[in-house]
Amino acid sequence: MRVVVIGGGILGAVAAYSLLRAKAEVTLLDRAHDGRATQAGAGIVCPWTTRYEGEALYAMLHGGATAYPDLIAALAEDGETDLGYARVGTLSAPEDPALLDTIEPLVRRRATASPMAGAITRLTAAEAQRLFPAMAPRAALHVEGGARVDGRRLCAALHRAIARRGGTLRQGLAELMMEGDRLRGARLDGAAIEADAVILAAGAWAPDVLAPVGLRLAVEPQRGQILHLRLEGTDTAAWPVLYPMTSHYLLTFEGGRVVVGATRETGSGFDLRVTAAGLAEVLATALSAAPGLAVATHIETRIGFRPMSPDGRPLLGTVPGLPGLVLANGLGPSGLTISPFAGAIAARLALGEAPPLDLAPYDPLRR
Ligand SMILES: Cc1cc2nc3c(=O)[nH]c(=O)nc-3n(C[C@H](O)[C@H](O)[C@H](O)COP(=O)(O)OP(=O)(O)OC[C@H]3O[C@@H](n4cnc5c(N)ncnc54)[C@H](O)[C@@H]3O)c2cc1C
Repeated sequence: MRVVVIGGGILGAVAAYSLLRAKAEVTLLDRAHDGRATQAGAGIVCPWTTRYEGEALYAMLHGGATAYPDLIAALAEDGETDLGYARVGTLSAPEDPALLDTIEPLVRRRATASPMAGAITRLTAAEAQRLFPAMAPRAALHVEGGARVDGRRLCAALHRAIARRGGTLRQGLAELMMEGDRLRGARLDGAAIEADAVILAAGAWAPDVLAPVGLRLAVEPQRGQILHLRLEGTDTAAWPVLYPMTSHYLLTFEGGRVVVGATRETGSGFDLRVTAAGLAEVLATALSAAPGLAVATHIETRIGFRPMSPDGRPLLGTVPGLPGLVLANGLGPSGLTISPFAGAIAARLALGEAPPLDLAPYDPLRR
């Protein structure tokens, strides 16, 4: 079975890797656009605290988070262990502690059905600060099983593992290759690549790939500006993710690296600029939630375009009338969480296997 995957972000990379583990012949085509979401993604993996609505979305978030241990074990078998993944826990710590009462019952209910969530604990301000010393004194809800991952390192590890397992990686701009109304594979910068199936995981750029075959995918880029700071001489490797319970968050990695994000700029188009308002918004929220970051060094600001679906649910499935095409997209603000699950489902669909859940809510061509 020959499968072409278009798009080498986290979703396409997981799909390609899953296919190789299932012994398919895989070619991964990636244009590596500036602003690809995976390169900017913060890396929070904690479905239990999400305030997004709907069971269908939660099923994907939960499926992704709980697929991580298997993905990590598989990559370790392939010699890849540098992923930045750690179950550091999460702290929800709003300015108004009354807000905790609104999420705690929901988090507890989800955790009861999900052992990976671990213990759910209310912390005093002093207890929370012991875990995240730079934060403001705020009471918090701690979720033991919350995790973070470095999307760049994970994606690079997947690409190396794909190559090691015999997959072909090629850089360039891909298009679908048709013969009449039948899908025959893909073209990369004009050169033909025959395949039995094509997975299109091209993030916010996917509509351009589908337009020539008369399909409209309702995905839009949403710009995120996200800052990386460094707390010099501070061991931040085990600090939990911090949610001030606005749309912002803070998380840390090894070497004093603190990631603070992010803007959510609907209607941004593919505008790659870092803006004054974006920086001000992100820094103001970060410093109010964690005043101890005032002394941190600014390392870089990243820009990523989240591939947003019209209703927040992924766009995942096959296309009636076009056998062999699988669409995988619309992971929006949560693709680093969902991809280990959604990418594996895309691989199964390409192989003609049944998905592990009903995909009706994720119909990729819905409006
Ligand atoms: C600021 C920010 C913070 C985020 N934080 C989190 C978080 O904390 N937790 C979480 O779970 N998620 C987070 N996300 C979301 C997550 O990063 C995305 O949902 C995910 O990376 C999407 O992956 P993708 O592979 O679908 O798309 P992308 O990573 O954008 O990859 C698409 C790829 O397709 C390629 N491509 C496009 N067209 C073509 C073509 N014609 N030919 C060849 N290649 C093509 C592109 O070059 C690109 O490499 C965040 C995103 C942003 C921007």
